[in-house]
Amino acid sequence: MNANVAPERVVSLIDGEWVDARGPRLAIHYPATGAQVSELAEADAEEVDRAVRAARRAFENRSWSRMPVEARQALLMKCHDIVLAHADELALLECLNLGVSLRELKERHIRRAAFNFRFFSEVIGQGAGEVYDQTAGYRSIVVREPVGVAALIAPWNAPTALASMKVAAALAFGNTCVLKPSEQTPLALARFVELLHEAGVPPGVVNLVNGRGPVTGAALVANPEVDLISFTGGTETGRAIMAEAGRRLKPCTMELGGKSANIIFASADYDRALDAALASIFSNNGQQCLAGSRILVEKPIADRFIADFTARAARIRIGDPMDEATELGPLASAGHRDRVLSYAGIARSEGLEILHGGAAPQGLPEALWGGYFVQPTVALAPTNGARTCQEEIFGPFATIQVFDGYAEAMDKANDTAFGLVSYVWSDHLPTIERATRDLRSGVVWVNTTMTRELRAPFGGYKDSGVGRESGPACRDFYTEAKTITVPAEPITPRRLGA
Ligand code: NAD
Repeated sequence: MNANVAPERVVSLIDGEWVDARGPRLAIHYPATGAQVSELAEADAEEVDRAVRAARRAFENRSWSRMPVEARQALLMKCHDIVLAHADELALLECLNLGVSLRELKERHIRRAAFNFRFFSEVIGQGAGEVYDQTAGYRSIVVREPVGVAALIAPWNAPTALASMKVAAALAFGNTCVLKPSEQTPLALARFVELLHEAGVPPGVVNLVNGRGPVTGAALVANPEVDLISFTGGTETGRAIMAEAGRRLKPCTMELGGKSANIIFASADYDRALDAALASIFSNNGQQCLAGSRILVEKPIADRFIADFTARAARIRIGDPMDEATELGPLASAGHRDRVLSYAGIARSEGLEILHGGAAPQGLPEALWGGYFVQPTVALAPTNGARTCQEEIFGPFATIQVFDGYAEAMDKANDTAFGLVSYVWSDHLPTIERATRDLRSGVVWVNTTMTRELRAPFGGYKDSGVGRESGPACRDFYTEAKTITVPAEPITPRRLGA
């Protein structure tokens, strides 16, 4: 393990400067070994307020919010280039506090983080307004203006990939921001924010505060100078933040949890569906909002599928995330490992049959004995009502249910409080057509897995969220619409009191 790339301590970055550490220290651990690799100095409400005021000043001086689009595009592309140029370093830092495999981080997460800047640079290059001239003698145009100071609150499961989307979108539309990463995973994002400054983002435009949700996060959400909030994280946290935002009439987007159905009809391309089912639940060490965690398989192929899926899950290579051959690394924290493992007990008590896993793996090299590993776990569920089938476990834990016919598949798939993603596997076009209409989720992936199209809205129905992320959705969120009405000829107003 190359831990010496991690800074000794992570602090806030406000107005382009690292601040002196003041608050309580929280240890940062490498999930593969449990060793402490760094620490975080928590920002309190006063430090958060400094960050918000820096963002406010940077917004109010207008050189950022009114920067010509072509100049902002050039800067976003510099951010893209610098993130890509530091992909190895960022991936290593991310790995050191997240435990996802270095390969996955480099190939997916950091690439995606860079691409977010290119994407939003292209989006703003194609922006257009609206013109209304139906009212005789008048023309109304609609222009978009940045909203102000954005609070961006990110989760730990894909820290840089997800936070960079928020930062790139906020910046592209002329806002300034304060980013609060998860207290578990501050390492790569601290370097990322520093790199944005090296790329030329002016001081105060992107500020970073670190600390726990109820301390640093809550102070950010409650700060009256924050104009809008973009949150990705758990559903219960989202509810609390939205309630606070509602009291202050602050717009927010909520990208929340999921318990996505992966429906495999007998008419599916079997081998592809099997490969994708494994990838959909076990990628990112099982810690994905969009995981296909609730597998529904049709009766005629169920026995074969269950046997093959379980055998393949049992062969997944667990180990050091720095090793290229590793397919499943540790979970992000000891507490999360314990929570995921507790579902094995819950599953058994609810009558589910654990076909594989449900415990920490045996036989790992001694160096990894302190790591937060969980075996890939496969549980056969007799009913969809079990907690194991309803609650987001957020780990390498798949439940499988058997269904008999299309109607039962749809009933089970939609019988959930969540609605982020649904997966459908079938080569029968009418089945696909019907399912894409009947499924109640913000995204339906047909015969594919985890194919995020940034141009199209991403977000959830029901408890999976409020609002969407995409080019147009982010434009709507990060800008205010201003309608300007001008008459073609001088008007003759009513002459009151003449
Ligand atoms: P979490 O809700 O515990 O924390 C998310 C962030 O909110 C962290 O930065 C945390 O410090 C902060 N926070 C916590 N309490 C807060 C409060 N009271 N006020 C302000 N901020 C607060 O979530 P997590 O465990 O970090 O992430 C996992 C969750 O995120 C899962 O439920 C997952 O499904 C969800 N997620 C959703 C998406 C999506 O796009 N829909 C993507 C990734 C993760």
